[in-house]
Amino acid sequence: MAVHTPIEHLESIAYRTALGVVRALTSAGHQAFFAGGCVRDLLLGIEPKDFDVATSATPDIVQSLFPRTEAVGAHFGVILVIADGGDERHAIEVATFRNDGAYTDGRRPDAVRFSTDPREDVLRRDITVNGMLFDPLRFEQTDDLDGSILDFVNGRDDLKLGIIRAIGEPARRFAEDKLRMLRAVRFAARLGFDIDSDTAAAITELAPEIHQVSAERVRDELSRMLTEGHARRAFELLDELNLLVEILPEAVTMHGVEQPADWHPEGDVWVHTMLLLEKLKPGCPATLAWGALLHDIGKPATYQLDRSGILPRIRFSGHVEVGVRIAEVILRRLRFSNEDTEQILALIKNHMRFGDVPQMKESTIKRFLRLPNFNEHLQLHWLDCSSCHGKLGIWQLMKERYEAEPAEERRPQLFVTGRDLINAGYKPGPRFKSILEAAEDAQLEGAIHSTEDGLALIRDRFSTS
Ligand code: ATP
Ligand code: MG
Repeated sequence: MAVHTPIEHLESIAYRTALGVVRALTSAGHQAFFAGGCVRDLLLGIEPKDFDVATSATPDIVQSLFPRTEAVGAHFGVILVIADGGDERHAIEVATFRNDGAYTDGRRPDAVRFSTDPREDVLRRDITVNGMLFDPLRFEQTDDLDGSILDFVNGRDDLKLGIIRAIGEPARRFAEDKLRMLRAVRFAARLGFDIDSDTAAAITELAPEIHQVSAERVRDELSRMLTEGHARRAFELLDELNLLVEILPEAVTMHGVEQPADWHPEGDVWVHTMLLLEKLKPGCPATLAWGALLHDIGKPATYQLDRSGILPRIRFSGHVEVGVRIAEVILRRLRFSNEDTEQILALIKNHMRFGDVPQMKESTIKRFLRLPNFNEHLQLHWLDCSSCHGKLGIWQLMKERYEAEPAEERRPQLFVTGRDLINAGYKPGPRFKSILEAAEDAQLEGAIHSTEDGLALIRDRFSTS
């Protein structure tokens, strides 16, 4: 693992702002360092997402030293320092050194004790590569990156070796906070690291206790795993370490479910799904990622070997509808918002419709393209085809149409409205919906060009009484 830092990361506004915070704290006689993820990323030569500061100053002192602050995590002693002239985007999280003491609920420390010892603060952190401190003032003076690191946990060695290792005794640390098991997996996937064998053994052992963590926090960790660009590795690790069977038992049943070899030369439903996950880009929408994970979740329950023909044939009749029902249960269990649930279910529900496009009426195609966030449907179809037979003709066609066609073509100003029907002598009632739909279909087909055309067509098909 290369360990270096491109100079631009040390000149960014975020870095300079955090440096200013450390300088102010140190000038006032306190210890202050960069801590956690940003140190790891600086050593890896990756641009840190944000710079967190850890200090011996207590939260009230931090608040008194800076003009603009917000107590975001009062219980944990975390103060947001908003830089001069900046806004929340240029805010630095400043956390007082602490010792988290005992955990009895498997989620949160019972009481937090502030400390003036940086070593204590590091020992309460989760994994060694996240447990280093960096002294930016020392670095300013010496230009020696390595010499400016405070490493009480051998984080630097693990970074070089590419190892995710719990700080301290793994079983104890995971027992304290079960979410750490998911974080270990996420960082292993994100960084392409192996999980140390004792750490992995502790996770496997404690996996059934993951239910002590709230569904929302589990969901958010999984969404991060799915959208950080290493979703396949993350889900393979979750599976290997017995976490997946606890969190998403439905997904585990995809293992060993064979598929017709002509359409799916890649293998079973699990392998196919992992190939989709492998193609998810960092920063992709979480709804798309969940759609990819769950698009074939109805296959295990609908697998059938049809022996009625000359050759036996594998079928998954109704897998889409069954999949939507299973996914609904999963998404409710993980407390997804209604909006995200709707989109993920729509992705699953429509994923097989691309195959019908050559037979679709023009109006049906336009209605299909009108689905909210159609772009995600397109992307899922691309992921799906690229992860089996590789035929992308329909995807290409629909993508070109979607991008080239103005939206008004698909949702034009309607020639015939309810008012037009009433004026033409139709009585308002439940029939209106299908009459209006027929008129809109004809318009989308290009079969009518005016209100008069539309009413003529309606008179032909529907009587006024
Ligand atoms: P990212 O780049 O994703 O922000 P990060 O390492 O900064 O990664 P955060 O979730 O922002 O991760 O947490 C900041 C730091 O706080 C971590 O580096 C780690 O030292 C510590 N930490 C976070 N969550 C836990 C936890 N559940 N248990 C122990 N330490 C934790
Ligand atoms: Mg962070």
